Amino acid sequence: MRKRVVVSVDLDEWYHCRWATGAPHSRWADTGTFFREHYGSDRPAGELAAPTRRILDLFDRHGVRGTFFILGEVGHFYPDLVKEIAARGHEIGCHGYHHVDIGLLGPDGFADQIRRAREVLEPLTGAPLRGYRAPNLLLADYMLPVLRENGFRYDASVCTSRSLLGKDFGHDHLAQNPYRFSERFSRPDPQGDFVEIPLPVFPGLRLPGSTGILTRVIGVPWTLIAMRDALRTGDAQYYFHPYEMGPRPDIPLSARERLFLRRLGPWMEGAVDRILGRLRGWGVEFARAGELAGTLPAAS
Ligand SMILES: [Zn+2]
Repeated sequence: MRKRVVVSVDLDEWYHCRWATGAPHSRWADTGTFFREHYGSDRPAGELAAPTRRILDLFDRHGVRGTFFILGEVGHFYPDLVKEIAARGHEIGCHGYHHVDIGLLGPDGFADQIRRAREVLEPLTGAPLRGYRAPNLLLADYMLPVLRENGFRYDASVCTSRSLLGKDFGHDHLAQNPYRFSERFSRPDPQGDFVEIPLPVFPGLRLPGSTGILTRVIGVPWTLIAMRDALRTGDAQYYFHPYEMGPRPDIPLSARERLFLRRLGPWMEGAVDRILGRLRGWGVEFARAGELAGTLPAAS
C-alpha cells in the first residue's frame, strides 16, 4: 500500500506567532490590541489572502489536496478565503478561535474557543469540523472530552520533538506515524475512537523536522530527511503557514525573531515546491487529514 502524506497549512498570519501574541511573554496582549497599535484599525490588513492563493496554486500544480487548520478569528475576517479553500478541494480543520496557548485558556476557555470557532467556520462550508490543531502545538488532556462533544474525530498537533528553546511538547516518546488513542494524547490505544496525526522529527536529534519553520531555518534537506525517516514506518505529515510565503513584517525584530522569520517569501515558496516534487517522486499519496484519520485501521 502506498504511504500517505498529509500536507497541512495553519492559516495563520505572522502576528499569530508566539513571540507576537497568544503566549505569556508575547509582545502584544491579544490580536485586538495588535490591530489597534499596528494597523490603527479593529481588523487585519488583508495580508493573508495573497500567500494563501499562491499555496492553493502550488497545491493544484502538484495534485495536493490538503487540510487547512483555521482560526475562528481568521474565518471572521476572511470568510471568502475560507470558502475558496474548501471550493478548491481542501479540508477545513479547526485551529481554535484565537491563537492562544492552552495554558492561558484553561478547560472552560478552551470549550468557549471551540464553540465560537464552530459558529464561524461551519456555516462557511456547510460541513462539520472533524479535525483539530492546537495553536503552538500545545495540548492538555482535558481538551479531549470537549473535542469529542463537538464532533471532532482527530487531532494533528502532537509534535514528537524533544523540548526546544524552552518549549516542551511532552511527546518525545511517541512514534511519528498516525495512531489511535482515547483518553490521553500521549497514550496510544489501538482500539481508541480518536486519531492522532503527529508531526515527524529529525531522526536521532529528535528536533522538529516536518514543519515549514525548520525548513526555512535549516533547509530543505533537513525536512526531507525527517519525512523519509517517518515514511519508513508509516504515513507522515508536513505543515507550514501562509505567512512563511509572504513578506517579512515591517517592524523592529530581535535576533531570535529574525532567525524564526528567516527566508520568508519566494525562498519558502520554492522550498515547498521542491518538497512536494520530491514527495511525488517517492510515490506517496497525498491525503487530507480527515481521510487518513477515517481510514486508519482500528488495530494498527
Ligand atoms: Zn498556528
